[in-house]
Amino acid sequence: MAAAQLFSRASISPQIPHKPTAAALSLYPSLRFPAFPRLKTLALRAVSSQAPRAAEATEFRHCFSKGEDGFLYCDGVRVQDVMEGVERSPFYLYSKDQITRNVEAYKEALQGLRSVVGYAIKANNNLKILEHLRGLGCGAVLVSGNELRLALAAGFDPKRCIFNGNGKMLEDLVLAAEKEVFVNVDSEFDLENIVTAARVVGKRVPVLLRINPDVDPQVHPYVATGNKTSKFGIRNEKLQWFLDAVKTHSSEINLVGVHCHLGSTITKTKQNRLITKVDIFRDAAVLMVNFIDQIRAQGFQLEYLNIGGGLGIDYHHTGAVLPTPMDLINTVRELVLSRDLTLIIEPGRSLIANTCCLVNKVTGVKTNGTKNFIVIDGSMAELIRPSLYGAYQHIDLVSPPAADAHVATFDVVGPVCESADFLGKDRELPTPAKGTGLVVHDAGAYCMSMASTYNLKLRPPEYWVDNGSVVKIRHGEKMEDFTRFFDGL
Ligand SMILES: *Cc1c(COP(=O)(O)O)cnc(C)c1O
Repeated sequence: MAAAQLFSRASISPQIPHKPTAAALSLYPSLRFPAFPRLKTLALRAVSSQAPRAAEATEFRHCFSKGEDGFLYCDGVRVQDVMEGVERSPFYLYSKDQITRNVEAYKEALQGLRSVVGYAIKANNNLKILEHLRGLGCGAVLVSGNELRLALAAGFDPKRCIFNGNGKMLEDLVLAAEKEVFVNVDSEFDLENIVTAARVVGKRVPVLLRINPDVDPQVHPYVATGNKTSKFGIRNEKLQWFLDAVKTHSSEINLVGVHCHLGSTITKTKQNRLITKVDIFRDAAVLMVNFIDQIRAQGFQLEYLNIGGGLGIDYHHTGAVLPTPMDLINTVRELVLSRDLTLIIEPGRSLIANTCCLVNKVTGVKTNGTKNFIVIDGSMAELIRPSLYGAYQHIDLVSPPAADAHVATFDVVGPVCESADFLGKDRELPTPAKGTGLVVHDAGAYCMSMASTYNLKLRPPEYWVDNGSVVKIRHGEKMEDFTRFFDGL
């Protein structure tokens, strides 16, 4: 209650200049985004003709799968051949078709509903991938001004873009207002900044209220961002304050919908029961629709229900049955139709994670007392999820093991000088020879976009398999790229 009083309605107005001051405007002199240099694509040889097509040999669920010859294939292209053809290791390798299939799964699930599939750019910001997703009809979900600039460079329709975040900067909000993207309101100060941005550009900003649905943590203990302890969103009890503030500032903001995002995880066992993520989407959607009814009762014309992202994938490759986009949409379909809403979803991981491997080379194998290590050239610099969250990503060798290869339990580690530098722990694998290819699966989301240059391991190149050809979709970083930051100093 005390906190609520800190933000009385009156407090918002005096702090917001009615006319943009010269100083405020001078903050935004050059918001235009420089044209992107055309990226050259390098077509390597097409190898699909001489390789057995893995997908035809057996039924595989995944774009990366073992062929009958024991080699790993990506859409019919042997990963070993790709390794031999590219300029350096490690590198990221994607299946363009798998990206398409993942989008199609959402489109199919959304049939009969008005909808926007907003791809969460933070999961993977490769420009070529963004252009492909845009071509497939996706909108974009942004968490920074630069992501908005990149989305515009990739040709996304700003009217299908949503700007999210708990600490959106005023200058980024000005750009968002200018481009007329949807903005999610996260807090009282965020609302003030949005109003200021609207005044600076002289446009009314379409906003959604990000409501923290506070789904029961007893029922859903693994929800990271949809409950009271989360730093995201506004609390239920504050809703009326926000509605009053929106009414006060109706010439600057136009409330068009509500948003929630429950955070990502897939399934966890609770008392040996598999809880699927869709239960919780349904619970959250029911709460959100109640909010919509309440808000509409006060005369607002709400059109959008945004249920965020968060659908998981089978990182463990155990064949677990995971909720599909169809399962997810079916849990909310009737609710959406009953209120005549447009559904916005914000998938990141479930669109891109399973389309990619990080391809590494084995530098050597060693034993320290009781532990065995496979040391590879890739590391936490290229792929930090295991080190950062203890995330599991499946690991495979790209070629069949030698007949006498001893199967043992290994930690798979990189060369970076940190004990936390591992890609996998306690993995049972045949002892690989030096130079053997080793992939970390499901590396499409939150891997390259989180890559760093720690230990001066420069960011790796990216390729995708497109129609049987391997095409470069991002250059590897070079030392010149690093030393350029010191030019002229
Ligand atoms: C990160 C994020 C997403 C995407 O989540 P995934 O788990 O990758 O699907 C969607 N919406 C918001 C607001 C996010 O912060």
